Amino acid sequence: MSQKLVSTLQIEYVPLSTDKVMCDGGDGDLGHPAVYFKMDKKQEVVCNYCNKKFIKKD
Ligand SMILES: [Zn+2]
Repeated sequence: MSQKLVSTLQIEYVPLSTDKVMCDGGDGDLGHPAVYFKMDKKQEVVCNYCNKKFIKKD
């Protein structure tokens, strides 16, 4: 798979205890149906709709 650079990459920091995040892309062009991603033991997940990145942080 080739990696694409996304110019409008958004990052959202979530508490370390988070095991699930919801993304709906927010307002505007990036909006999409609400989807949930399991964090499990991962430090970060990327929304496959809008490429928003969720990163666990203290
Ligand atoms: Zn998204």
